[in-house]
Amino acid sequence: MKGKLIIFSAPSGTGKTTIVRHLLAKGFDLEFSISATSRQPRHTETHGKDYYFLTAEEFAKKVENEEFLEWEEVYKGTSYGTLKSEVERIRNNGKHVIFDVDVVGGLNIKKYYGDEALAVFVQPPSVEELRNRLTGRSTETEEKIAMRIAKAEHELSFAPKFDVVIVNDDLERAFVEAEKIIADFLNK
Ligand code: ADP
Ligand code: 5GP
Repeated sequence: MKGKLIIFSAPSGTGKTTIVRHLLAKGFDLEFSISATSRQPRHTETHGKDYYFLTAEEFAKKVENEEFLEWEEVYKGTSYGTLKSEVERIRNNGKHVIFDVDVVGGLNIKKYYGDEALAVFVQPPSVEELRNRLTGRSTETEEKIAMRIAKAEHELSFAPKFDVVIVNDDLERAFVEAEKIIADFLNK
């Protein structure tokens, strides 16, 4: 049987990468779908592990060649996308695929795969807390943080379209909730 698809979406800074990493370490037979992006790597990130870091030209070429299952210009001038080859590679290995994508991309993947996919929305306790987390992460400039916060309000309105919502207030509680949701979905 081909692997299932688990999608995590949330406004930037909510904690979805933290939760996805936790799930990957829990031995659910999951593999992370490495997206392509035209943004610069953060000092903690590795090409081929966190993202496939491409130039804007390389990204555009892949769009033209229809290599993406979905892609979005998530922030002005910065695009992100899921490569069809990445999803196929993981599923052909008999693993389940876990995605960390923006809300629009997440809903597009869900629409494409239907019941084979579970779309999880991670909700921050408040926009103010989102700002604290983004500032605390120290990976973006003030200007980039402002851009991400400005988008968050709109992104939060997408929550009801997802299969399930996890509020990431207390991280340990969110971990436990996410584990239960994934276990139930994979055992269905
Ligand atoms: P995202 O992938 O949604 O952009 P991250 O996983 O990078 O978010 O988390 C953003 C920051 O918030 C990180 O520094 C992370 O350690 C921190 N964080 C995540 N969850 C919580 C939480 N429940 N309480 C406090 N800080 C958190
Ligand atoms: P970051 O720059 O913080 O890594 O990611 C910014 C946003 O882009 C996050 O919401 C993240 O989930 C989203 N993102 C990452 N990869 C993809 C992808 O392949 N497709 C889409 N649509 N969004 C993505």
